[in-house]
Amino acid sequence: MSETLYIDGAWRSAASGQTREIRCPADDSLVGVVAEGGAEDTEAAIAAARRAFDTGPWRRTPDAERGDLLLQVAEAIDIRRDEFVDAETLDTGKRPYESDIDMTDIANCFRYFGKLAAQDAGRVVDAGSADVDSRVVYEPVGVCGLITPWNYPLLQAAWKVAPALAAGNTFVLKPAELTPHTAILLMSVLDDLGVPAGVANLVLGAGATAGAPLSAHPDVDLVSFTGGLATGRIIAREAAATVKKVALELGGKNPNVVFADACDTRERLAATVDNALNAAFLHSGQVCSAGARLVIEESAHDRFVDELVRRAESIRLGLPFAQGTETGPLISSAHRDKVHAYVEQARAEGAVIRTGGEFATGDEGSGTLDNGWFYRPTVIDKATRAMACVHDEGFGPTVTVETFTTEDEAVAIANDTDYGLSGAVWSSDAARARRIAGRLRHGTVWINDFGPYLPQAEWGGFGHSGVGRELGPSGLNEYRETKHVYENLRPDVTGWFAARGEQL
Ligand code: NAD
Repeated sequence: MSETLYIDGAWRSAASGQTREIRCPADDSLVGVVAEGGAEDTEAAIAAARRAFDTGPWRRTPDAERGDLLLQVAEAIDIRRDEFVDAETLDTGKRPYESDIDMTDIANCFRYFGKLAAQDAGRVVDAGSADVDSRVVYEPVGVCGLITPWNYPLLQAAWKVAPALAAGNTFVLKPAELTPHTAILLMSVLDDLGVPAGVANLVLGAGATAGAPLSAHPDVDLVSFTGGLATGRIIAREAAATVKKVALELGGKNPNVVFADACDTRERLAATVDNALNAAFLHSGQVCSAGARLVIEESAHDRFVDELVRRAESIRLGLPFAQGTETGPLISSAHRDKVHAYVEQARAEGAVIRTGGEFATGDEGSGTLDNGWFYRPTVIDKATRAMACVHDEGFGPTVTVETFTTEDEAVAIANDTDYGLSGAVWSSDAARARRIAGRLRHGTVWINDFGPYLPQAEWGGFGHSGVGRELGPSGLNEYRETKHVYENLRPDVTGWFAARGEQL
């Protein structure tokens, strides 16, 4: 099937006729063949979205009706759950169990924005005069270019598509070239639900060709991007010429700050280590908010890191559909090489690789790992702030370990990053935990937890982690223009300039 571009309400092949093979990163098996779009396809999609926005019914559809449609999308994803789960699993190599959790979150995201759509119609402003009616109203921004990564393919798309539709925009979605299948399914859901032609468009292909017009094109009013910092910079630069709205959700290098009093009993040690393990190795560390920097109080270092290493060594890597698999491969061979290069550099800079630091091969009971891009969970001890492994986002199953002795030092280490996406503090002293949380310069801070997010709470980064927020009311506002309508109910001569010459 190569008619996988969805443009102006119809499925199409790429104008060039080119296709791309999608392979499962766990075993390199062929998952599907999709259209490899290029700039020409994206320009056609932008033109369709422009037409649909300027002359179509969508932006004038009542908010509540658009909200209802989003609720139906959630329903359809639930009904077609197995199809969505299988597609996400095969494209990413993550377990169906994890894909299923993603689908629940995705359906909930559509539900959240579906309900929010009609809740905030603007406000009346007191202009200080009975002769003035002054209102602040919200309108859709227009044509939105939505560009998403491969780690949580449909989840990241849903965080953009749901609020964009709720606000009355039209959009062109360009998912990561490696993981297109759930985006195709989402478009088929929107098509089935009768979304007007041109409102929802999908282009597939490489970023530099199929993606680039979404930031540069004058007919796109907003570009919302989730992905790496280097790409985010290109997009911001390209968007500057047309001064479009830009939302960026970029990477993170997220500190997990652990005080000794969070591991001073057997139970507390078990819980804190277990959460640090999840923070670092969930989805093999391919998570923008991964707890890839363990910042631990010196006095707890030895017992904590020994236990972390023991637990990391027992993580079962495997094929996604096999029983017993706990985590899967990295997304590609090139990405695994990049992760390994960071580890090698850390070793060269004097860090101690306590476990991992190598490709995972052989058969651990779920079938051979030799054909996929598996990497051993890796603990990098004796890391320092000068090392690249501490500053740069490796985006793999690696966690660096740094130590502190005072609260001030813990905060200084945790905030010593150009990023600022998320972080956590672990302490059994509630006042201290809140004190530290208040000082962390990160968009999301967890206390005695790591990872949860809620559709009703804003998500986004300080610093180089991005611009703008997704989810929550701000996540809807990203897709709305705010307009002040000031109505003078009794227009009269202002008298500002003297009336000279012949009077009327
Ligand atoms: P990436 O930047 O390589 O690619 C992301 C998307 O951008 C892809 O669709 C790609 O095709 C497209 N793209 C690449 N070059 C482009 C260009 N010149 N113009 C337009 N589009 C272009 O990122 P990735 O490797 O797919 O994803 C991993 C990154 O995403 C990590 O840095 C991770 O931290 C980040 N991420 C952030 C969040 C968040 O919420 N902040 C969530 C998930 C992932």
